[in-house]
Amino acid sequence: PNKLVEIKNLKKHFDMGKGQILKAVDDVSFDIYEGETFGLVGESGCGKSTTGRTMIRLYEASGGEVLYQSKKVHSLKKKEMRRFNRSVQMIFQDPYASLNPRMTVADLIAEGLDIHGLLSQKDRINKVYELLETVGLSREHANRYPHEFSGGQRQRIGIARALAVDPDFIIADEPISALDVSVQAQVVNLLKRLQKEKNLTYLFIAHDLAMVKHISDRIGVMYLGNLVELSPSEELYSEPLHPYTQALLTAIPVPDPATEQTRKRIILEGEVPSPIHPPSGCVFRTRCPQAMDVCAKEKPVWQKAKENHYVACHLYEQ
Ligand code: SF4
Ligand code: MG
Repeated sequence: PNKLVEIKNLKKHFDMGKGQILKAVDDVSFDIYEGETFGLVGESGCGKSTTGRTMIRLYEASGGEVLYQSKKVHSLKKKEMRRFNRSVQMIFQDPYASLNPRMTVADLIAEGLDIHGLLSQKDRINKVYELLETVGLSREHANRYPHEFSGGQRQRIGIARALAVDPDFIIADEPISALDVSVQAQVVNLLKRLQKEKNLTYLFIAHDLAMVKHISDRIGVMYLGNLVELSPSEELYSEPLHPYTQALLTAIPVPDPATEQTRKRIILEGEVPSPIHPPSGCVFRTRCPQAMDVCAKEKPVWQKAKENHYVACHLYEQ
């Protein structure tokens, strides 16, 4: 498959004043292939959202580069940037916060079409009806307001909004985290169906591995601004290498009692340290149950552990 997105040594540092630098994203590299779902996972504050936002220039990168369809996003000219802004859409965690409460559902969904001046009035409303039906709502909903809908329905409106401009790539930033568990699966299934029907590529951001399990083809695990492991989804669950991934995995309840016994819960001590004062060497060492002397001195290198499986940890260095 072709690479749709190439992220190379991406950095996003925020100047906090008084000489303090917050390294929200610190030298992250990965590719996203056309048609896949790439899951990006880590506790809150690990830099996942910032990675997504920097990729699409909601934040300017502090270093490194992002290629989209082989073109440097940073150097896109005005016209190309407009195309890029259609091709890449975002879905947010809290659809309510991202939907203007004074706009009708029809206007919300058509906003992108209006900005890009894409359709006549008649085609516009027909497109809105079609999108409502595509996401499992009905055309009767077109003239209502966001507060009249449940969380799951609002997320469907958010999805319809993103789909309106026929994107190729969707960054879904914690799209199911705020929803009831019973609704989460419905939204995941909707996203999966749309991916097939519309040939979409997803970056799916979540704070725990249970949420990305059923949708991701590959998963990247982030900790404190760093990517620490990247693997095909199934392999990440069956053979997690990084101690942080192992700890995240044991936090997922396992329904099968046979597996439960073999997977001892690893409790991570303490909080994620401040990205303003990250630990020396391995950023995970202050919470790692397997930390060694070398971990405080040297930053582990990002390396290939197996085919398609990468990790940054001294335990796997030769
Ligand atoms: Fe733990 Fe060391 Fe590996 Fe970091 S490099 S995850 S501290 S063993
Ligand atoms: Mg976030």
